[in-house]
Amino acid sequence: MAKIPINMKSGEIEESELIIGIDLGTTNSLVAYLKDGKTTIVKDVAGRTSLVPSIVYFDSEENIIVGEVAKMHLVSDPERTIYSVKRLLGKSYNDLENYSSKLSYEIIDEEDQLVKVKIGKRFHSPVKLSAEILKYLKSRVENHLGREVSKAVITVPAYFNDSQRQATRDAGKLAGLEVLRIVNEPTAASLAYGYGKKAEESEVVAVYDLGGGTFDVSILRIDNGVFDVMATNGDTFLGGDDFDRAIIDYWIQTNGINEEEISNQQKQILRIRAEEAKKQLSVSDQYLSEDGEFKISKDQFERLIQKLIDKTIVHIEHAIKNAGISKSEINKFILVGGSTRVPLVKQTLESRYEIEVMDDIDPDEVVALGAAVQADILAGNTQNYLLIDVTPLSLGIETVGGLMDVIISRNSKVPVAAGRQYTSSVDGQKNLRISVYQGERELVEYNRKLGEFILTDIPPMAAGMPKIEVHFIIDADGILKVRAKELRSGKFEELKIQSQYGISEEEMAKMLIDSIKNAEQDMAAKALLEARNEARSIVISTEKFIEQNKDILTEDEKSVLKNKMALIQKKMALEDKDELNEAIHEMNAFSRPLAERAMNHNIRKALSGKKI
Ligand code: AMP
Repeated sequence: MAKIPINMKSGEIEESELIIGIDLGTTNSLVAYLKDGKTTIVKDVAGRTSLVPSIVYFDSEENIIVGEVAKMHLVSDPERTIYSVKRLLGKSYNDLENYSSKLSYEIIDEEDQLVKVKIGKRFHSPVKLSAEILKYLKSRVENHLGREVSKAVITVPAYFNDSQRQATRDAGKLAGLEVLRIVNEPTAASLAYGYGKKAEESEVVAVYDLGGGTFDVSILRIDNGVFDVMATNGDTFLGGDDFDRAIIDYWIQTNGINEEEISNQQKQILRIRAEEAKKQLSVSDQYLSEDGEFKISKDQFERLIQKLIDKTIVHIEHAIKNAGISKSEINKFILVGGSTRVPLVKQTLESRYEIEVMDDIDPDEVVALGAAVQADILAGNTQNYLLIDVTPLSLGIETVGGLMDVIISRNSKVPVAAGRQYTSSVDGQKNLRISVYQGERELVEYNRKLGEFILTDIPPMAAGMPKIEVHFIIDADGILKVRAKELRSGKFEELKIQSQYGISEEEMAKMLIDSIKNAEQDMAAKALLEARNEARSIVISTEKFIEQNKDILTEDEKSVLKNKMALIQKKMALEDKDELNEAIHEMNAFSRPLAERAMNHNIRKALSGKKI
């Protein structure tokens, strides 16, 4: 398929295309590009650092500040300073249950809904917060180049699921970027080291990524220019922060400090000193703080962290096992992440696996550089790499309220298959209409309808009970098949749609431009629709709950529930999603203990009189 470079803002055809590569990290993010065969990492104006702390600060006037300046507010204004957003992307509160208490800001408990961050009276989605970081990176590169950029490749961990990848894509769109591809971080790191260039090459590499707070290892087979992630393994709470902690614990012991007696400020100083010591020990044998109070030798440090590095080895062994290969099949290690600068990491890998450990490229920058290489390949500037057929636009179905639910996203490699489960929204629903759309807008009304069919004769069940699996399959010729099956009854229907779905390049380009131009408005409409859908189902379930538990609830409780329900209904008619979310949040907070009481009561009732 031919490529036409288009300026997303003006809609004009551009002369030369420049696509940026972004490493959207948990702790830090970076942006890079490749021009005339040379990769460049974009630094701050002072030319000091390429790292942008992935931190978003909201001041009291709701101004948004990103990066280094936002980081300064971590200690002074923790509730309004959002860090580690990447850990929240595409996650529901249930996914984060153990983690939420560790955060200094508030995330909202709405069970299986995607999490939101609450700052003051406003609710912010992780997608929006990530978009702020991406906007900052976009403007950094635009200032540096003196021109606009509109296309990007963004990296994600290899273990990210569909919903986390989609959330990353949405964040890009909201930042005014057309996300040409989401690339796995280990794939990007391998690209930066030049893998994937030769058609005849076949290698297995292990990418070892040890950052500030996370560790993961991925085993990749690179064959004929195709990167296959064979296995990943890791620990989402293991990294350089633990090395710092080990040093702090050591000083507490050797200097006789009572941690409970020292102030927060002193704790902060200890933390900063520990990180300073760790970094120093990457290049020398001793550390002594300026005031002479704290010291540690490299030998001592290595004894402290050996067990942490051994933990990473256990993960590597698991990954090797899951990949179904033997240790000797791995050709090389690639090091990624700031903490791999600790010399003991490389030494341990070399002595244990006896293969080359590659660390020539800055471990903080290697992923962003690889993303830039991938971007350049997509721009068609690097002829040597193989390019694979991809889907030109996203494909999905209409869900409640007219929302587009993407099943196969734009730029997926073909052939491809993907599926998702749905359910009914009303009791006793017999038929389900499946409408298939193509396009990048959040609301189906702005996308192209490709066809529809009706899954009939679903046996009557309560809302939420049917399990309807919708599968999209695109074969190598680009023919799309959509299958729907109700899993409880086995009812099945299929729709076939012919190749390329009859759309011209110009139409396609227009659809893409429209989706970027309208991203902000679309996302806002989507957030409101989602809040209304949720509100609707809460009203229905609350009505049922009151009816089924009328003997257990007091009159007061019933009347509060009814009032809260009326408030939700009132807010549903308005256009403010934050007010509606607040009403939903209040209802959930009030009804949760009642639901627990009712459940305990019903369990006791069911058990009474039964012999155990
Ligand atoms: P990342 O999440 O990849 O940005 O990695 C950040 C982690 O790398 C932090 O824990 C840093 O303290 C650590 N780090 C950065 N530079 C060094 C260094 N020279 N030696 C040891 N650790 C480092």
